[in-house]
Parts: sequence; structure tokens; C-alpha cells
Amino acid sequence: MRISDPKIVARLAELHVELQPGAALAGLTSLGIGGTTDLLRIKNHEGIPDLLNLLDSNHIPHKFLGGMEGLIGVPGTVGGALRMNAGAYGMQIGSYVREVKLHRAATRKIEILRGHQISFEYRHTSFAPDDMMLSVKLELPSKLFKDILQGIRICNEKRRSSQPLGQKSAGCIFKNPPGASAGRMIDDLGLKGLSVGDARVSDRHANFFVNAGRASARDMLALITEVRERVQKTYGVELENEVVVWNA
Ligand SMILES: Cc1cc2nc3c(=O)[nH]c(=O)nc-3n(C[C@H](O)[C@H](O)[C@H](O)COP(=O)(O)OP(=O)(O)OC[C@H]3O[C@@H](n4cnc5c(N)ncnc54)[C@H](O)[C@@H]3O)c2cc1C
Repeated sequence: MRISDPKIVARLAELHVELQPGAALAGLTSLGIGGTTDLLRIKNHEGIPDLLNLLDSNHIPHKFLGGMEGLIGVPGTVGGALRMNAGAYGMQIGSYVREVKLHRAATRKIEILRGHQISFEYRHTSFAPDDMMLSVKLELPSKLFKDILQGIRICNEKRRSSQPLGQKSAGCIFKNPPGASAGRMIDDLGLKGLSVGDARVSDRHANFFVNAGRASARDMLALITEVRERVQKTYGVELENEVVVWNA
């Protein structure tokens, strides 16, 4: 999605994020403040409390940057979010990327890619596998602080009520096929609770597979294969992994 309406563009503000090791995505989302082109260094533990402290201090920002409220509960780093085009509840980080500074292994050079040179699709991007993202410039719309907080609250509530947040999981296992929901398909097959060893299809959200004890990677991969085969057999649809599987 390109934002082209001039009225909307006028409301956009720049946020330049330098990726330090472990730069936390949650920090970026909840710290969506500034309204300046200042470089914002994201640290691991910054979050809502820091934002509220800021409000209490003398440095009250005049405007706040929103748009990424849906990412508030997504664990991970800004680099990982860029690579995966992380998104939730109708938004994705790629929509806000103005430019990315990266190290290209192919040329051994640091390059800057403009947003339109990068393809951001559903949990897929056109970065080369060995590109290493170093910083990102985001264009975020100015919003009222209370509206950002409200958006965060709504997304948090949706997550809490539908996902097994208290259990160990890797998030959604499969991508949603076009026009369908992987979780709904798995649920309709009655596969909630299906287990291989301690790897188990969550009772709360069928596209989340949880480690209910001492599940091994082998258990989890076997469960993924089993569920994929059952869905294929019934619906004729081959579910694609959303999780990235690293072969040892
Ligand atoms: C409970 C739970 C809920 C989740 N909900 C969501 C959700 O709602 N939406 C969603 O999109 N995802 C969700 N996820 C998945 C995950 O949090 C996101 O995909 C996140 O963006 C991954 O970030 P990460 O830093 O953990 O990356 P990793 O998983 O460590 O890595 C992902 C990929 O990015 C690459 N990468 C990481 N940093 C860089 C860098 N600087 N330069 C180049 N490549 C890099 C890695 O090599 C890897 O290929 C969820 C996960 C969990 C556990």
C-alpha cells in the first residue's frame, strides 16, 4: 500500500530508527512518539511506562506518531519485523517504510533502498536472504495520544482473548491462504488439542502450536506436517509456513 493522498501525507511525520542489536519491536510501537525527524534509538526495555513518564515530564511531545498500534503485542526486533513484514489487525510495517539502510552481502556495500524499491507482501519481502538491515526511516501519521492508546488497548484485548499468550508458542504457524483463515480451517477439522509429544495445537487458537512441556523441534515439525496433510486432504489447500524453519 502506498500512501498517496496529499492530505494524509501532510500528516505524516518521520521516524528514523537505528537498529541496535536487539532493538525491540514493542519499544518502537509503544514509543510511537516524536513528530520530528530526530534519530530515535530503540532500546530493549522501552515501552508504555516510558511513554507515560515522558508525558509526566517537562518534555511533553507536541504530536504523537501512530499507525503501528497493531504491532504492540508482536514480539521481536525491528529488523525481524522488516524482513517478515510483520503486521496485525489490518496493518503491516511495510506500509510505513520510507527507506531502509542495509548491508548487501552481494556487493559488500551499504546501500539505501527507497520504500518503492522494496516489495512488502503478506509476511514476505523482496530483501535478499543475506541483506542485513541497519536502519529504517518510517513515515508515520500523527495521531492524538489518546487515540493511539485506545488503538493499543483494542488490539491488546483482541490478542488476549484469542491467543494462548501464557504458553510457549512461535505465533501463527501457517500463513492464511488467500481469502481463508488457516486457524479456522484447522479448527473446523477438530484438530485443537492434537499433539505430537508435547507439541500441541492450541485449544485457544488453532493456528498457534504450543509447547505444552518438553516438546522438541522434531515434535513440532511432525505436528506441522500432520496438520498440513489433514488440511490438504480435506480442503485441497497446501498451507504455507509463516514461521521460518532453520534446518540444523
Ligand atoms: C506470541 C507471538 C505472536 C506473534 N504475533 C504476530 C503477529 O501478530 N504478526 C506478525 O507479523 N508476526 C507475529 N509473530 C511472529 C514474530 O514475532 C514476527 O514475525 C517478528 O517480526 C519476528 O521478529 P524477530 O526479531 O523475532 O525475528 P526472527 O524470528 O529472529 O527472524 C525473522 C527473520 O528476520 C531475519 N532478520 C532479523 N533481523 C534482521 C536484520 N536486522 N536484517 C536482516 N534480516 C533480519 C532473520 O534472519 C529471519 O530470517 C508472533 C510471534 C509470537 C511468538
